[in-house]
Amino acid sequence: AAEEGFDLEDVEGAIGAAGHGPLPVLAVVGRPNVGKSTLVNRIIGRREAVVEDKPGVTRDRVTYEAEWAGRRFKVVDTGGWEQDVLGIDASVAAQAEYAIEAADAVVFVVDAKVGATDTDEAVVRLLRKAGKPVVLCANKVDGPSGEADAAYLWSLGLGEPHPVSALHGRGTGDMLDAVLEALPETPAQTFGTSVGGPRRVALIGRPNVGKSSLLNKVAGEERVVVNELAGTTRDPVDELIELGGKTWKFVDTAGIRKRVHLQQGADYYASLRTAAAVEKAEVAVVLIDGSETISVQDQRIVTMAVEAGRALVIAYNKWDTLDEERRYYLEREIETELAQVQWAPRVNVSARTGRHMEKLVPAIETALEGWETRVPTGRLNAFLGELVAAHPHPVRGGKQPRILFGTQAGTKPPRFVLFASGFIEAGYRRFIERRLREEFGFEGSPIHISVRVRE
Ligand code: GDP
Ligand code: GDP
Repeated sequence: AAEEGFDLEDVEGAIGAAGHGPLPVLAVVGRPNVGKSTLVNRIIGRREAVVEDKPGVTRDRVTYEAEWAGRRFKVVDTGGWEQDVLGIDASVAAQAEYAIEAADAVVFVVDAKVGATDTDEAVVRLLRKAGKPVVLCANKVDGPSGEADAAYLWSLGLGEPHPVSALHGRGTGDMLDAVLEALPETPAQTFGTSVGGPRRVALIGRPNVGKSSLLNKVAGEERVVVNELAGTTRDPVDELIELGGKTWKFVDTAGIRKRVHLQQGADYYASLRTAAAVEKAEVAVVLIDGSETISVQDQRIVTMAVEAGRALVIAYNKWDTLDEERRYYLEREIETELAQVQWAPRVNVSARTGRHMEKLVPAIETALEGWETRVPTGRLNAFLGELVAAHPHPVRGGKQPRILFGTQAGTKPPRFVLFASGFIEAGYRRFIERRLREEFGFEGSPIHISVRVRE
């Protein structure tokens, strides 16, 4: 079916590339200084500023996309977290717990020059309990002479140690091959496997916006703790909550409780927890404290959900405390600070008084519906045809690039591939996204549009 110069292979290839579902998640865990960040940089093939980070500087970016041998996956880096006041064992264990919980497979990094320490052994116990596939990385094997050091790590009982020099790249290819073998094609944690089960909601937001108050209000006494996860941890706990006549699974709700002992690294820790919850959820409810100025941290949390491709609801809490003036400024802030997510359903709630609690479920349902919307190819092209005829792309250099046809490559969130006769400018892409939303809804969902240009 050659359509305007594209052959079927082009089209299928493009849809395959754009149509990936949720990506499996790889967590990189280990003690401080074993080389986790160096390894993550190697895996994502970029020089992110991770290793240069100064101690104490908050890093909230913890998840990266990577590709090896044509397969894409996400990498969770736990290397940016400072040791907390409980001491090194507790902090390494705690961060590893979150990362392992969110992961489909784990790379456990050990410094082969140092050998296995007690802290390493503690992480091994966590890994055993979690039962996730583990690839053992014996790092800092910079040359052949280090291979013997790596062999000692068989003693950890995690199978073959892969000798690697994260710094120089030695052995990383073989290790990544092993990673791909361990990683499932589709993430087990996310929607891939639980079709028909309760929908998964992540209630997220910066500290003190009212997450635990809201959870208590909506759930009352009906909370059912679902999984203590075979004892891996007391922390990432999912709870079944009855709301609007349906059962919902609120993921990682224990993370909502305060962890007062956390001093250093608390922000990073919170980011990791948020990222883990978002990974597991289908829809994120971002709670924002309406009584306070919308902050960069609020925006980052929203961005995390959008980048993860989850359905999104924004709830403005503490509405009971807002006077008329604050309400005015809040609207202005929403327009400027959250302009990029105007499509997200919004509810103004008060966890204290219970105001508008009943609107939460309809908003969540709307967002999930938008997230799952599929536009038939015929309808999409009828729409694109009219749109392009009425609003052609501006002429550039005597040429007028045209959208030839399009198809929806996937849902959750909706992903489109447009085929064009020339380079399509960003402004025109945004115009198309806007019109697609006007025509088909997608309320509460990010949408992805990729454009293929005929060579
Ligand atoms: P993290 O705390 O586990 O994230 O460790 P980093 O990635 O920050 O690395 C800690 C130190 O070990 C840095 O000075 C790195 O340059 C060094 N390092 C990391 N990987 C290697 C390696 O393969 N060989 C050598 N010799 N040093 C490494
Ligand atoms: P979390 O850190 O996001 O879980 O926030 P909390 O639920 O612990 O709430 C932080 C503070 O805000 C507590 O003192 C709550 O009583 C208060 N709070 C939460 N929701 C509301 C609300 O809707 N109205 C008012 N006035 N206070 C609230």
